[in-house]
Amino acid sequence: PIYLDHLASTPLDPLVLDAMLPWFSPAAVGNPQAAHRPGWRAADAVEAARAEVAALIGAPPGAVLFTSGATEANTLALLGGTAPGAACLVSAVEHASVLGCLPELRRRGCPVTILPVESDGRLAPATLETALETAQHRPPGPALVSVMAANNEVGTLQPLAELAAVARARGALIHSDATQAAGGGGLSMDGLGLDFLSLSGHKLGGPMGIGALAARDGAALRPPSAGGGQQRGLRPGTLPTALCVGLGAACRLARDRAAEDSRRIAGLRERLWFLLSAALPRLRRNSPPDGLPGCLSVTLPGLDAADLLLGLPDLALSTGSACHSDAAEPSHVLLAMGRSVEEAHATLRFGLGRTTMAEEVERAAGLLIAAILAD
Ligand code: PLP
Repeated sequence: PIYLDHLASTPLDPLVLDAMLPWFSPAAVGNPQAAHRPGWRAADAVEAARAEVAALIGAPPGAVLFTSGATEANTLALLGGTAPGAACLVSAVEHASVLGCLPELRRRGCPVTILPVESDGRLAPATLETALETAQHRPPGPALVSVMAANNEVGTLQPLAELAAVARARGALIHSDATQAAGGGGLSMDGLGLDFLSLSGHKLGGPMGIGALAARDGAALRPPSAGGGQQRGLRPGTLPTALCVGLGAACRLARDRAAEDSRRIAGLRERLWFLLSAALPRLRRNSPPDGLPGCLSVTLPGLDAADLLLGLPDLALSTGSACHSDAAEPSHVLLAMGRSVEEAHATLRFGLGRTTMAEEVERAAGLLIAAILAD
């Protein structure tokens, strides 16, 4: 198979696996909470991993809460970070795990606003500014704004620094789902002035089942879970040492390799676009060149993308968001960018990553072009 679905999930990096393996052995017994030598060893490993996560995103280690992934991190930020009755504003292109929190917030009496985006998927700072002016600021809490760092369907990067500045100037808190952007490095939660940031292990060469929410010191978080008081009670539950170690190792690798990986992967993406667009002149590109290096979303008017991929089972890529591919619903991201339902169904999303080779890109393009032209 040719795997070009790195935005849905990345292969576990062999170095990450090496770091984790000892922690799966029976000798690595020990609850990180326990007050004895095996427990302390586990706790040390978890805390070293926490520091690696923090270093990747430019946050203090104490800010990082391990979660089961970005879905849980986003839920914790939205449901735990929006004060009762306070406004919540999110962009229209957020991941389902953010948008899915909105009905519950509405039930809690929080006024919810879904902010429209430009045709390239960016949320204009002026749009946020206007919305915050009109959002109801009711005691007892500030509004929460949630805007992703990079979109998982088209790769658009949001102008986070400007958006955070607008939010701050209006006294609002800001959360960013950095699931797709974190592996590319260069994020600084402190530098950007973010209150909350989410990420996920399996999107950056780490294991599935682990992620993190970083919460700025002092940012109020009302945890939905009760339990043993781990992680200051904000996200209680026994931590999986091996998975934490894996996430830490993945973050460390991302920090070391991000610049080089990004350059190489963006080169492959441009090669892919060149090959496809040369053979298919009606092909249109949804992904901006300055977006996520590994993301290429393209639309070929008239194409039934799902049907095409069914005929190419060894070519792993997506028709929209992988998280949506069970449902035949058109991508809410493309619709928010002004594309039609027909265009959404005629869209393919390639996700290139650290392990993608030039020859895979050539072969994938060849297979797709042949299949499309044969139709
Ligand atoms: N946020 C974004 C932008 C994503 O792309 C994804 C995964 O598809 C998630 C959140 C959910 O991440 P997880 O699989 O860790 O729950």
